[in-house]
Amino acid sequence: MSLKAFNAGLHLDAGGIVAAQIIDGKAIADRIREELKARLARLVSSGVTPGLAAVLVGDNPGSRLYVKMKGEASEEMGLAHWTVRMPEDTPQQALLAEVARLNADPQVHGILVQQPLPPQISTEAAVLAVDPRKDVDCFHPENVGRVLIGNPRFAPATPAGVVELLVRSGNDPAGKDVVIAGRSNIVGKPLAALLMQKAPKANATVTVAHSATKDLAAHTRRADILVAAMGAPRMITADMVKEGAVVIDVGINRIPDATKKSGYRTVGDVDFAAVKEKVRAISPVPGGVGPMTIAMLLSNTVHAAELSLQT
Ligand code: NDP
Repeated sequence: MSLKAFNAGLHLDAGGIVAAQIIDGKAIADRIREELKARLARLVSSGVTPGLAAVLVGDNPGSRLYVKMKGEASEEMGLAHWTVRMPEDTPQQALLAEVARLNADPQVHGILVQQPLPPQISTEAAVLAVDPRKDVDCFHPENVGRVLIGNPRFAPATPAGVVELLVRSGNDPAGKDVVIAGRSNIVGKPLAALLMQKAPKANATVTVAHSATKDLAAHTRRADILVAAMGAPRMITADMVKEGAVVIDVGINRIPDATKKSGYRTVGDVDFAAVKEKVRAISPVPGGVGPMTIAMLLSNTVHAAELSLQT
């Protein structure tokens, strides 16, 4: 690789052609976990082991898998973790009582109520029930508001994972035109709130597109940084992306694949094979944003334990 290409963050393939930087979410997430170890050691020496409790209502296979991954990651890191399993027909009051019990337990520093919840339970009621000081998902309106005004208590896990992927791969969003496709409360909106702040790792000019956007491609084509968070398999095609852009793919979609034992494979919202030929940098699915979400959740749990020592 020439020094010029290296400095520009460009990667040459075997034929000397400039190839896109593939942003390795797993490696960056591993580094974040490594950095957390010193903070964890300080807590443990003060007699505090950060603890994460996940509440899983029902038997949704996706939710089961996410909760299992979060538990394993906590264990690997040396955090305490508990999974509270409740049946699909759990009444709302029973869930709220369980959350109240976890709120009152000093060993529990972070609480997750895994979504989606069954229809008899209001998601809003469940989110409001979690003590904002233990809300490591950063879903409680108090914490969402703090993110918006630029004084966060916790980092919203997936959006903060996107920001860390950008910054740590040498693609700082400052001064860039960022287009986010998707406006959910979990990804699109909090990511826009993070990136628009007058602050380090932010300072971008942000456009948020959604299903009522008149001409999605007109927006995505002018993005310096494009974040796809729609849940629409491989919808972002090469013609929708500017040459030399940076693309972060948040989407996790299962599509049928007869060559796999499971009968499916996981793809993002971006047509990775075609788009990587055109862009400066791109995150893959799997191995991009997914590992970052878990790393940021662990970071929030450690932070919650640190906060518990201050009160
Ligand atoms: P939601 O379904 O809550 O939101 C999707 C958003 O995309 C909505 O704002 C919707 O618009 C918009 N949208 C959908 N289709 C289109 C379209 N054709 N054109 C323009 N906008 C569109 O999803 P989430 O935000 O929860 O998740 C998005 C994706 O990210 C999913 O694949 C999910 O699995 C994945 N995900 C990955 C995580 C990770 O750790 N990697 C974590 C969280 C989610 P409207 O508001 O108008 O309906």
